[in-house]
Amino acid sequence: MLEKVLIANRGEIALRVLRACKELGIKTVAVHSTADRDLKHVRLADEAVCIGPPPSAQSYLNVPSIISAAELTNADGIHPGYGFLSENADFAEQVEKSGFKFIGPTAETIRLMGDKVSAKQQMKLTGVPTVPGSEGALPDDPDEILRIAREIGFPVIVKAAAGGGGRGMRVVHNEEVLLSSIQVTQSEAQAAFGSPVVYMEKFLQRPRHVEIQVLADGQGNAVHLGDRDCSLQRRHQKVIEEAPAPGIDDALRNDIGDACVRACLDMNYRGAGTFEFLFEDNAFYFIEMNTRVQVEHPVTEMISGVDIVREQLLIAGGAPLSIKQEDVSLKGHSIECRINAEDPRTFMPSPGTIKTFHAPGGHGVRVDSHVYSGYTVPPHYDSLIGKLITFADTREAALVKMRQALDELVVDGIRTNAALHRELVTDSSFMAGGVSIHYLESKLEHEH
Ligand code: ADP
Repeated sequence: MLEKVLIANRGEIALRVLRACKELGIKTVAVHSTADRDLKHVRLADEAVCIGPPPSAQSYLNVPSIISAAELTNADGIHPGYGFLSENADFAEQVEKSGFKFIGPTAETIRLMGDKVSAKQQMKLTGVPTVPGSEGALPDDPDEILRIAREIGFPVIVKAAAGGGGRGMRVVHNEEVLLSSIQVTQSEAQAAFGSPVVYMEKFLQRPRHVEIQVLADGQGNAVHLGDRDCSLQRRHQKVIEEAPAPGIDDALRNDIGDACVRACLDMNYRGAGTFEFLFEDNAFYFIEMNTRVQVEHPVTEMISGVDIVREQLLIAGGAPLSIKQEDVSLKGHSIECRINAEDPRTFMPSPGTIKTFHAPGGHGVRVDSHVYSGYTVPPHYDSLIGKLITFADTREAALVKMRQALDELVVDGIRTNAALHRELVTDSSFMAGGVSIHYLESKLEHEH
């Protein structure tokens, strides 16, 4: 069992990790930039260490500072949260080399899944369905490229192997622009990610985003906790998530879940992870794996009763997985709205001091947020200020609770996207369930 965990993150996820540590009797170390002294988890942690000035590069991404803080405080584990260093294989390696437990998979696994070409090949090995496309990286030979594209059929999408955050991708509609588009993507990939390797796959026109949550202990045990639908996105950023994904039958959900479990066992995966899929015409197509806890993990916690962060901590402490697949029973429906400090029309960040914060509550309402009245949202980091999560027996009832929760929410002093959420939870297409990943952007284009 871990005794003291350093939380290498900020905001709501840092508080989420702190709470899980406290419940397990694990001591906590908060690390923070000079802009984040007033973060809630910094005040609640057993120890706090300032690791640098506001810019992330000098604080939350500053590996030597974080490792020094762990040494100074005698921590034995480091939880990376999401974003920042959470999927940085070099960081994971450095953490373990310095004698600490990295609360996540091995550096080797992160590297394997961080490269989309090798990740996709790994999935094919274990029978996880992938988007039809090139066998690995694209070759240099133009004739060969053309042959591959024709075989896949237009439109195709050219993607950087090292890409991430929705960048390094280009949709190509016809042969005339294929080679030039590949060249542009290659040079963009080289500039942005330091690798020009690209691959090609079928561009799916109206897919949903459906993902599978897994937990594995790296000791031969793995389970899946069902799926989440995260199709409501703007600029590849998820806005509302829910579990289970509406309209997908249990047999199909279990089949894909089982395939993900086999993939975990095959690569000896350790920790929490998410297999992301595009879902179209009742079929799943793997796009990537996230080797960390995700923002939207609470919706899965609500329907499975499993505390994912607690499991991460136990696994990192060396315990075998306490749950077996037959123990996992998914019940009810959960929805999450991401509340961002941003202008509801322009989507520009809206940092500043929150004069009054009032969180909703009641049966089936969960609020994961680090903010409080008087808290100042700094301009240096992402704009997520909290997550409203509701849980009920049915999707309809979870939506009713969400409308109520949004009505109760008060955030005065800064602008937030709460009004957008209020609109979305009464939107007839969203209420019907199963909208595609393009739905939100086209709705915004038409209405605003
Ligand atoms: P990133 O790591 O940058 O998030 P992903 O591979 O997860 O990259 O893709 C990001 C998004 O790009 C997907 O959520 C989807 O909207 C779009 N996308 C990626 N591949 C395809 C595809 N084959 N067809 C259609 N859309 C795609």
